[in-house]
Amino acid sequence: MAQAKKALVKTSRKQNGRSAPRASVKSYNNYIGGKWVPSESGEVSENMNPADTRDTIGRFPLSTSEDVNAAVNAAQEAFDRWRHTPAPRRAEILFRLGEILIRNKDTFTADMTREMGKVLKEAGGDVQEAIDCTYYTAGEGRRLHGFTTPAEMPDKFAMCVRQPVGLCGLITPWNFPMAIPSWKLIPALICGNTVVLKPAEDTPLSTYNLVKACEEAGIPPGVVNLVTGYGEPAGAAMTNHPALRLISFTGSTETGRQVASACAERNAICSLEMGGKNAIIIMDDADIDLAIEGALWGAFGTSGQRCTASSRLIVHKKVYKKFSQQLVERTEDLRIGNGADPKTDVGPVINAAAVEKIMGYIDIGQNEDGAALACGGKRLTRGDYANGYFIEPTVFTDVAPDMRIAQEEIFGPVTSVIPANSLADAVKIANGVRYGLSAAIYTRDVNRAFHAMNEMYTGICYVNASTIGAEVHLPFGGTKATGNGHREAGTQVLDIFSEWKSIYVDYSGKLQRAQIDEVKL
Ligand code: ADP
Repeated sequence: MAQAKKALVKTSRKQNGRSAPRASVKSYNNYIGGKWVPSESGEVSENMNPADTRDTIGRFPLSTSEDVNAAVNAAQEAFDRWRHTPAPRRAEILFRLGEILIRNKDTFTADMTREMGKVLKEAGGDVQEAIDCTYYTAGEGRRLHGFTTPAEMPDKFAMCVRQPVGLCGLITPWNFPMAIPSWKLIPALICGNTVVLKPAEDTPLSTYNLVKACEEAGIPPGVVNLVTGYGEPAGAAMTNHPALRLISFTGSTETGRQVASACAERNAICSLEMGGKNAIIIMDDADIDLAIEGALWGAFGTSGQRCTASSRLIVHKKVYKKFSQQLVERTEDLRIGNGADPKTDVGPVINAAAVEKIMGYIDIGQNEDGAALACGGKRLTRGDYANGYFIEPTVFTDVAPDMRIAQEEIFGPVTSVIPANSLADAVKIANGVRYGLSAAIYTRDVNRAFHAMNEMYTGICYVNASTIGAEVHLPFGGTKATGNGHREAGTQVLDIFSEWKSIYVDYSGKLQRAQIDEVKL
């Protein structure tokens, strides 16, 4: 059992080099088997506000493989009862969860802005996404459709039903700290699975809020277990755990590859949602003002820290100059600041490592032959910005499709404007990256729109809208290095969290051989 050890505070990735623990900071626990317990190690990390790292939000357990083992044992113990709870009854609890999330939306929104940095409106959207996902997916409790089909032989009945996968490990990132956990958790639960959930180390509070709401809704002990902490050791302990039949992961492509190989080693099911390098095509007949709005929102919303961010703007040469000029003017007008201030357009980035990575790419861009830094490009460190991770929204123009800033995921407020000669050229450039999550086209020509819809090799495609803005009842996911063929959201997510069972009922009273064994022509 967990022994309460003296809290040992480790440096958080968001920390600005200061480590002295303060007694007044609230301590949070893991949730295992229906109990809130500290980590076996007693170690914690401090969760800081990325807009002002002097503001410490709380201390969260740095979990180890022992905590993961305890959580998996709890999930195992709860599985049979939850699996046998009829799906419509499971759904009733989830509808209650939806009500609790609605009731707490403002608090959860403020908590999220404080720990993650995104502006209040976007944090509210993140919580709303969890609410929508909960209601939509809970509705599946009265569907979870299987199917019947004719059998080959007389007096034989054939059907197919969904059954739960078993114990699921859910590993989530920091950029949508309530929405993404909900995308995994709610479908896992409606299908009858029990789970161990590990949020990103930078944003444990929003996932804690979600799990606390699960407890209040009456989800039985052990069905949902929360362990906080780093990818190593906590996440890795999950991917290697022989009892976790499925790992559902959203995060970086590099980590996703490690998760996938760990799962392959032990034949676990693995669903991956990873990077993007999403493009908006702006044709010469586009409504340029509308395209500018879409580009700004797609490139700089959430400070560009979305896997669907519009990090490439591929513009027809006939409108290239006009578009680029307007884009730069509008980008320079964006207000950077603390996301809690309603006047802020662009909040901070998540942590010091993100600043380093993004500034590194800005450097690379400036050194690429031909590319021009059209605006932004600096880290802000004075006055109100002194204690946070603020980077100016940055636009590079005259970018060539093969440059690193046009190929690699930057995950920050940086976008590249790339000229194109024609629609065919633009589509080729859009498809010429290793990722395939989202793509968009601005055009008033229906033929061009349908051509792009058909030719862009991505999991999501928008016409006259930006690359961001997925809705929960449509499948979400991407091609190529973005994923491994699965889709979250929609009803398609049920195919991740359930397995098909084919059932044959022979009521003929005699041995009937299937065609495979006895061919009659
Ligand atoms: P980022 O670099 O943006 O933080 P990561 O892919 O590293 O993205 O993190 C996404 C999630 O994966 C987080 O919850 C993180 O703790 C977890 N994670 C990181 N490394 C591993 C690992 N080796 N095994 C399992 N999970 C990991």
